[in-house]
Amino acid sequence: MQFKMSYSGDSRFASLLENPSFSIVLELPVADENATIKELLKFAAESQSIFATALLDGSDAAPDKSQLDFAEEAISVTAKPVISYISGRGRNEDDVRSILNKLRTLGLRDFVAVTGDWQKGTSSYMDSIDIMRAIVDTGEDNCVGGVVNPFKYLHEDQFFQYCKLIAKTNAGAHFIVAQAGWDMKKYQELIWFLRSREILVPVMARICVIDTVDEGLLSKGLHPGVFVPLHIAAAAQRSGADAARFTSEQAYTAAFLAAGCRLMGYNGIQISGIHTPGELEAFQNKLDEILEKYQSFEAWATAWNDTYKDMAFVPVMSNLGGKLPFYLYGSLMEPEIQSFDARAAKSSEETIPSPSLADRMRYYFLARQDTPEWIRKSAKWMARCKYTDEQLEGLMGLEPELCPKGLLKMPCGNSSPGGICECGENPCVFQRIARLALKNGLVSKLEGDRQQ
Ligand code: SF4
Repeated sequence: MQFKMSYSGDSRFASLLENPSFSIVLELPVADENATIKELLKFAAESQSIFATALLDGSDAAPDKSQLDFAEEAISVTAKPVISYISGRGRNEDDVRSILNKLRTLGLRDFVAVTGDWQKGTSSYMDSIDIMRAIVDTGEDNCVGGVVNPFKYLHEDQFFQYCKLIAKTNAGAHFIVAQAGWDMKKYQELIWFLRSREILVPVMARICVIDTVDEGLLSKGLHPGVFVPLHIAAAAQRSGADAARFTSEQAYTAAFLAAGCRLMGYNGIQISGIHTPGELEAFQNKLDEILEKYQSFEAWATAWNDTYKDMAFVPVMSNLGGKLPFYLYGSLMEPEIQSFDARAAKSSEETIPSPSLADRMRYYFLARQDTPEWIRKSAKWMARCKYTDEQLEGLMGLEPELCPKGLLKMPCGNSSPGGICECGENPCVFQRIARLALKNGLVSKLEGDRQQ
């Protein structure tokens, strides 16, 4: 089921992704003690199943050690590819090129571009697509990935995630990493969406093993944009003396989930939340056992549906304002339907609401390209609008400060499952832009034209 790809570059990660076997990337727990990380790296070096390590960027939890230090250590201990995340938080293009050059000097060629999580006091963020372009530009042999968050349950919020995914592939993404979640329907929805659009890009699923040291799971989720199902978060808080048992159960769920991803057609996983060699070995063993036991999607999906039928994996339903959670297809996780089939998939007929009159007027007077220029100029003057035409075009006439990260082209992906902005209580502004784009037939522009 996995796609085979060919790349112009010669990075080891790219050539490993061509391998049809399922690949496991170990995400390093950079907040842990150095000695613990070293043990984990030594184990990863020996393990046949681990084919690369991943190093997140911009971690508040590891302020003492730079990404370069971690990267150097990971390369020297494992001699395997290191995938470095490059975040746009607080950075401009020069900053990104500078860190890229340093990482390349160490021999790194594999990168993932992310816009970055919200940090109080930081107002400038470089969009992940712009970072991706800079990576492609910095070296032809670079292998660059992008992240997509399929765990969105409001149609207009999800719409933009998939638009951005296509824009990333148009901008040169060699592979995609799906943000972590527990809802298997959403994992399958992403694969089906890619097949329906004939996008042949390798996809990895980021999978989190929850342990009881993860704080604030109930209130804040695991990371921005990663929401832990209520029953798992509540169990983590209750686990107390039974912490070891809880962690073991979570590793089993993660392995079960990873097996499903493999059978759905994912090319690999990025496993996060592993702290010790023992945990990694236990996870690998569980994954092998599950794959041995359930050798077809049908067998696995039947078992998953039976095992977790009483548990809700769709988080924070109250954010949806009474709406049913949105799925692009109606027959997800039906054991007898493994691959995308346009007739069997039952595409959703739910439409995205129309934009408000005020938004339509702003678009017409301030951003629409076929509005006579004198009208746009007069409207800008009357509205005391200080923004450039380019900024206004990107946001379809809406005010740039409506996005706290100042993003002008595409959303960051960290909104809540119900579409609330990562940094406040308002809906993500890009939902309004999605409505305008659909109303004005500009979807293909969102998917690529505007990024050229
Ligand atoms: S408005 Fe949307 S894109 Fe901007 S920070 Fe909030 S969630 Fe991210």
